[in-house]
Amino acid sequence: MGKIENQFAMQDPTTQYPQPEFEKQPQSAPGLAREMRPKPDHGETSYKGFGRLAGRRALITGADSGIGRAVAIAFAREGADVALSYLPSEGADASEVVSLIEKEGRKAIPLPGNISDEAFCVNLINDAAMQLGGLDILVNVAGKQTAVEDIADLSTEQFEATFRTNVFALFWLCKAALPHMPAGGTIINTTSIQSYQPSPMLLDYASTKAAITAFTHSLAKQVVGKGIRVNAVAPGPIWTPLQPSGGQPQDKIPPFGSEVPMKRPGQPAELAPIYVVLASQESSFVTGEVYGVTGGNHLS
Ligand code: NAD
Ligand code: MG
Repeated sequence: MGKIENQFAMQDPTTQYPQPEFEKQPQSAPGLAREMRPKPDHGETSYKGFGRLAGRRALITGADSGIGRAVAIAFAREGADVALSYLPSEGADASEVVSLIEKEGRKAIPLPGNISDEAFCVNLINDAAMQLGGLDILVNVAGKQTAVEDIADLSTEQFEATFRTNVFALFWLCKAALPHMPAGGTIINTTSIQSYQPSPMLLDYASTKAAITAFTHSLAKQVVGKGIRVNAVAPGPIWTPLQPSGGQPQDKIPPFGSEVPMKRPGQPAELAPIYVVLASQESSFVTGEVYGVTGGNHLS
């Protein structure tokens, strides 16, 4: 594994981060980043900012761990104040992110709760906007993934819970956020390679990700006249607690990431720069776009 000084240090990306085999490491959902071996890199010691989001006010869901945590750290280092959404059981991960944001001299507003409830989503947006003094950026990262091999074993309860968390919450959060957002505001959703190349054991999850891709294209066209841009990021396999906590069967954890051309999983820190550019004015002509971060598998 190479030395990660900052996101600009030139090195071989295939050996930049840990490669399979990994240890089996079952956790119950939602998992905690602090329990993972090896520890994921969220850019804690490496992400270097340049004020690209100076003064922006952002709400990030799933901000305690994984991709959302890397985005929260990067946004704070780029000068944004950040409200963080996560489940109450993830307080230990979230408090580490709050400290990292405050260390940058930025505001961190922890807002725990369950986004599969519409009333909670409306309150989440209103609380974030009130405590940040407005809302410029909404980043939807939270998601639920539970692998089930056979449709006969996929319950209606799970199917509904996956849709409520991944799709309904996105609808409720975007709907509540838009009235707060000024021209120049941005929404970034998190879809997946699963939207394009679905795995057989992720029937419900892959379907939600395809819905998120279509939602992103449609909403982008609907709100472009308000000067608000809507884009999505489509990750491939990323080393986060989502995977060992039921996102994959446990026997898929040791070889996790070996199937992509880079032959390793991505780290959350490798996603953050893409969310930064999509949130910032640098991507002013980009809307309705899906940006793949997959280790070499194409979105098609
Ligand atoms: P993660 O477990 O670190 O993050 C997911 C977060 O979702 C959790 O931290 C939790 O706070 C939040 N969440 C889940 N259910 C919730 C609920 N009901 N209410 C509130 N918050 C809830 O894992 P991650 O891999 O960083 O996942 C982030 C996003 O990336 C997800 O949308 C996931 O589908 C997507 N994604 C991940 C991968 C991967 O390989 N890890 C690949 C493609 C897409
Ligand atoms: Mg988490």
